[in-house]
Amino acid sequence: MTIEKFDPKKYFTEKELVELTQNLIRIPSHKDTPGFERDVANYIHDYLVQNGIESELHPVVDGRPNVVATIKGNGTGKSLMFNGHTDTVLPYNMTVDPFAANISDGKIYGRGSVDMKGSLASFMISMVAMKRSGYIPEGDVIFTAVIGEEGKSEGTEYIVKSGITADGAIVGEPSNYEYAIGHRGLEWFDVTFYGKSSHSGKPENGVNAIEQAMTFISRVKEDLYPVLREKYDEYMGGSVMNFGTITGGTEQSTVADKCILRIDRRYIPGEDKHSVMGEYQDIINKLKDEDPKFNAKIEVTPESLLALYHPPLITSFNETIVTAVRAGIKEIMNYEPNITRGIGWSDAALLKAYAKIPTVVFGPGDLSLAHTEDEHIKIEDLVNAVDIYSRITQNFTSYPKEDELQ
Ligand SMILES: [Zn+2]
Repeated sequence: MTIEKFDPKKYFTEKELVELTQNLIRIPSHKDTPGFERDVANYIHDYLVQNGIESELHPVVDGRPNVVATIKGNGTGKSLMFNGHTDTVLPYNMTVDPFAANISDGKIYGRGSVDMKGSLASFMISMVAMKRSGYIPEGDVIFTAVIGEEGKSEGTEYIVKSGITADGAIVGEPSNYEYAIGHRGLEWFDVTFYGKSSHSGKPENGVNAIEQAMTFISRVKEDLYPVLREKYDEYMGGSVMNFGTITGGTEQSTVADKCILRIDRRYIPGEDKHSVMGEYQDIINKLKDEDPKFNAKIEVTPESLLALYHPPLITSFNETIVTAVRAGIKEIMNYEPNITRGIGWSDAALLKAYAKIPTVVFGPGDLSLAHTEDEHIKIEDLVNAVDIYSRITQNFTSYPKEDELQ
């Protein structure tokens, strides 16, 4: 238990937190928005600057900027990074107005409310409260509002490549008062099957690519599914895969000469991008040996290609940031928080794997509401998140810089 150095509640109002969250939701930032995240990034930057916080816009790609804001510490303690993404998924078939940010029954509705403009607002208000209080943390507090997490994670890739770093990080994906120190790695693969077209009246003259895909699927189910069922990680769950889409053929009267199968593969420690790709390649090789006409190739899905892969998040339970997050939640909510194991891939993995920043996922709201047709967040959760983020900041930055517990 650390000594409280400032109480954020004295330095912000619920009203301004709610209005900030609403304003962020009211600025669309999905991929069909002109400029994509640009307007929301500008808004965040201006808001922080108006509140006396040092902030910079860093264009990443096509003029889409990250926001990097800093409250300088006095240099004796550990530095902390807050990370949240400014993009949202498309509004799909939302049953609520996606960009009105209407309030009903203590909840704010709209696209991005829980994933993750509510977290962004909570990070921002905890920094604003800190600034207004005059409290100077021992270590720097760095807020990175990044682009493209729902796509290729260009924003956090830029952060890790640019050398912006910290001694610990929190990614604000919704975690419902729990926290995550691990999640699975993710890769997407395209398997393309090549056949030979012929008239459907003479199928024996062709090679059907759709049937090849069927053979491959059956073999994966027979050979690979049992292997995957044996794999399990304490912090991440099982090693799993999904056949996501299949497209092939040109018309009913023609033997299909091409078929593409898209696979989503979520893997755990002990596996990596090469090993999981190798599992499919082995099956392709075996099928080629058995049937010389079988012809397929596997590649990483081109649209998912980043310079970086999507590794698992593995942060040790003994890291100082984990201790500080647990203590922060416990001190505000009065209970020992659980570790959540079910979260999807997040930018936390890039911060940990490439920038070597021990990273925890913790943010307001319920993950199961992300990307839904009535996405919403409780105002109470936002207020608590400001309190918890402020407490974590005080806890973590009070650790001396050279203190290495691991
Ligand atoms: Zn998210």
